[in-house]
Amino acid sequence: MAKITLDNLAHSYLPNPQSEDDYALKELNHDWVDGEAYALLGASGCGKSTLLNIISGLLHPSQGRILFNDRDVTSEPTAARNIAQVFQFPVVYDTMTVRDNLAFPLRNRGADASYIQDRVQHIAKMIGMEGELNHKARGLTADAKQKISLGRGMVREDVNALLFDEPLTVIDPHMKWELRTQLKSLHHEFGHTMIYVTHDQTEALTFADKVVVMYDGRVVQIGTPQELFETPAHTFVGYFIGSPGMNVLAATVDGSTAYIEGTEVDLGAGYSVPDGKVEIGVRPEFASLSSNGTGLPIKIRRVEDVGRHKIVRADFFENEINVIAGEGAEIGADMNRVTFEAAHINVYANDWRVEPMGTQASPAGEAA
Ligand code: ADP
Ligand code: MG
Repeated sequence: MAKITLDNLAHSYLPNPQSEDDYALKELNHDWVDGEAYALLGASGCGKSTLLNIISGLLHPSQGRILFNDRDVTSEPTAARNIAQVFQFPVVYDTMTVRDNLAFPLRNRGADASYIQDRVQHIAKMIGMEGELNHKARGLTADAKQKISLGRGMVREDVNALLFDEPLTVIDPHMKWELRTQLKSLHHEFGHTMIYVTHDQTEALTFADKVVVMYDGRVVQIGTPQELFETPAHTFVGYFIGSPGMNVLAATVDGSTAYIEGTEVDLGAGYSVPDGKVEIGVRPEFASLSSNGTGLPIKIRRVEDVGRHKIVRADFFENEINVIAGEGAEIGADMNRVTFEAAHINVYANDWRVEPMGTQASPAGEAA
């Protein structure tokens, strides 16, 4: 197992990159702590696979270094890095049995037969394929083949890291949950450094200790699920995580007061905002409807009852404000204002979160 360090790393697929836009992966410095489970989360095309393939050695970065336990592996081939990687689509040997497919990485390393026997049995149980060990992989469904790929990725105990690139894409929804649970228990059992790529926030938030959010080739925040929820470092994190995502509204900020379309909003703390685009962000969970004349004037457009709560969609000038109201909340026709919990308002300048004055950025919540 290893700590993995990304030192000044960047990658462009172009031979002569000119500007930042030419980089699929923008400059990044980060330590992946030994033994932690990370999710790498972001929309399709944001650079997740590029980063993962640089860590595994499938791709040589155009700039910077990768270190495993402080040893520079940038020029080492994948095989020398001692990692397991599972891809989006199955990679199995069709002519081999399920058993031989699972045993392959162990035989390759010269493990002894009785250990292989036990280990393969254990993994087969985790992926729910004990009954099919003697079947040839050919003829199995894509779903079953992907489970074999996952099993092969998990079979070795001595790897530096386990890398998963959207491994559950072809797996049916119920099995997804099951396999994710198995991956988590594998992590508890062996404490491997794991990096799990996904574009699905639910997968990321349930799997990982720390979520690394990427947007447009850049890591915009690394944090616990709670940090991503409470203090999104970038407006993208606010939109992308949560359902619905954070409300983001253009504002001017003066000390501890924001002005939004002419209405004064108390921020609960003082801010010194840099020049440029200023916005405030409030999650729908921390917004409330009122009818007593205070707050931002809104007009309710739609109420969606999603079981545990209601999502209220309201128009506010040219924008939408979403409010989450309790399951039993009465939403009267006179509800024409929205108020925010001051302690849960975030202030953004040019899309990046501004810390209130008199507080220090928490290291865990910092963008890389
Ligand atoms: P993700 O895995 O988050 O969907 P990728 O890392 O695959 O994103 O891609 C990041 C960007 O790099 C995308 O714009 C994609 O089109 C581009 N890209 C990926 N692979 C290559 C390649 N082999 N050659 C050129 N461009 C690529
Ligand atoms: Mg990808």
